[in-house]
Amino acid sequence: MGNWYADGLRFECTQCGNCCTGDPGFVWLSAKEQQQIADALGLPVAEFLLRYTRLVNGRISLREHPNGDCMLLTEDRRCSVNGVKPRQCLTFPFWSRLVASPEAWEGAGTRCPGIDKGVHYKPEEVDVISDLTTPKEIIARIFRGKR
Ligand code: SF4
Ligand code: SF4
Repeated sequence: MGNWYADGLRFECTQCGNCCTGDPGFVWLSAKEQQQIADALGLPVAEFLLRYTRLVNGRISLREHPNGDCMLLTEDRRCSVNGVKPRQCLTFPFWSRLVASPEAWEGAGTRCPGIDKGVHYKPEEVDVISDLTTPKEIIARIFRGKR
């Protein structure tokens, strides 16, 4: 398929919290992210891993409360580690599988009210954000530049 988002994509988070709650899911953490989040919480990494994560097929994912809320979500539905958010959370909804087709993007929009609204992202920005090899600092800079 050609680049279906040649005119760019719109997205602006409404802070609804849907993507941090609800149906069971996985938030994968790299080793660096595990350390960064442990530091942000003021915990030794071993304790952070024990209290906030689970091992799934050899990979580390954040744990959820029984109702599906991420354990790092605050009572007012904010991320308690906003400054060191996992890449997966930072880049949502510009995940490669969600920008792969209009259908996938539209499907994500059924749960994320920010999709197709607000801030415009150029196609090259979408490409950079959805590329897993892009350093998170560059992605954060793109988002900051949109505020
Ligand atoms: S579901 Fe979309 S709008 Fe709601 S918090 Fe997540 S990214 Fe923001
Ligand atoms: S780490 Fe933060 S942004 Fe990611 S799911 Fe948990 S609360 Fe939401």
